[in-house]
Amino acid sequence: MAIERTFSIIKPDAVAKNVIGAITSKFEGAGLRILASKMVRLTDAQAKAFYGVHKDKPFYGDLVKFMTEGPVIVQVLEGESAITKNREVMGATNPEKAAAGTIRKEFATNIERNAVHGSDAPETAREEIAFFFSAAEMASLAR
Ligand code: ADP
Ligand code: MG
Repeated sequence: MAIERTFSIIKPDAVAKNVIGAITSKFEGAGLRILASKMVRLTDAQAKAFYGVHKDKPFYGDLVKFMTEGPVIVQVLEGESAITKNREVMGATNPEKAAAGTIRKEFATNIERNAVHGSDAPETAREEIAFFFSAAEMASLAR
């Protein structure tokens, strides 16, 4: 067990549904602290690069289109076992398979429009945080 940082995106579907606060409350309720948070509109190039690991999947094109359709909230979350804890609070990728009380069960529309992104491992968490937040920006937010 250790204090970790992870990266989260509240996706365009959830921002459009006006549930930024409800989702953020789930993080805080699980003991995760919001270390950094901002609203951004992903460019096509950013969405393609961010989801580059999925570039050969059949859903890649639609995913990039979805992630650029409107603004998102990008956040850095910190807490005990934050990477795993966030994945638990998020629920399964497919909301039909997500457990009761999870973000995706409550707020996702379908397997694509599933409300949130969360890093899946320490290395991806570091990379994804650095994709959106510079070291100087993170340092300026230190408490
Ligand atoms: P997760 O976000 O749970 O880590 P993945 O990394 O497998 O899931 O997929 C990234 C994102 O791609 C998902 O959150 C979802 O928005 C989309 N996605 C995944 N699988 C599918 C699918 N079968 N059909 C459409 N979109 C999908
Ligand atoms: Mg993933």
